[in-house]
Parts: sequence; structure tokens; C-alpha cells
Amino acid sequence: MAYVYDDQNIFAKILRGEIPNKTILETEHSLAFHDISEQAPVHVLVIPKGPYVTYDHFADSATDAEIVDFTRAIGEVCRIMEVAPGAGFGGFRAISNAGEAGIQEVPHLHMHIMGGRRLGRMLE
Ligand code: C5P
Repeated sequence: MAYVYDDQNIFAKILRGEIPNKTILETEHSLAFHDISEQAPVHVLVIPKGPYVTYDHFADSATDAEIVDFTRAIGEVCRIMEVAPGAGFGGFRAISNAGEAGIQEVPHLHMHIMGGRRLGRMLE
């Protein structure tokens, strides 16, 4: 799949500082911030700074350093927000919607980290 990155998407604007965000963590290659329309008491988005549309695009095209940084940033967010199993609320969900069937709204890779309550089953 040849991905075309739209640099006018809202997360690209956040990364350029054109739109404010509530940052939780910034690393060399990643940014984590509160979702503007939270679906759970903890609802954080973790994004790579690079121009990747979906997780498969990132996995196929990002450098090892970017992949390690993004993965570690997710772990760090879980620690900061106290949603890692065994701590705080004791569990979370990590989801990355991709493409039309995945109901992806913003075409810049983002991992939703949700927790802080018992999450319902994913049925659809
Ligand atoms: O996975 P999907 O693309 O549907 O999710 C996009 C997410 O980005 C939504 O949860 C939405 O609330 C969030 N968003 C945000 N800040 C914006 C625009 C969208 O946190 N300025």
C-alpha cells in the first residue's frame, strides 16, 4: 500500500504547534496528549512525529529508532497515567484505528490509550 500523507491533518498541525494540545509526554520521535473528546477517564493519544498514516505504514516505513521510541512512549504513558495492570485502575486498552473500515478520523497514526474505568467489550 502506497500511503500519501496529508500534512494538513489536525495532528500534523498539533505537531507544528499551530493547534494547542494537553501534552503528557514528548520524546524525540513521539508526542502523547489528552484526547479532546475523552471516551474514558484516561484517554490519551500517542503519535509519532513522523508522517505516518496508519500503524502498518509506520511498521513498514519508520526507522528502528522511531519504532522503539513510539513503543516506549506508550509504556511511559501507561505508567504516568497509572493504567498499567497492577497499578492504579489496573488495566487499559490500546487501539489504533486504520482506514475507512477501521473508522479512522485523523490520517496520522495515533494509538488510543484508554483506562480509568472498566471498559466494555468491543462488539462491533
Ligand atoms: O481513531 P480516530 O481517528 O477516529 O480518532 C481521532 C481522535 O482524535 C478522536 O478520539 C478525537 O477526539 C481526537 N482529536 C483530538 N484533538 C483534536 C481532534 C481530534 O484529540 N483536535
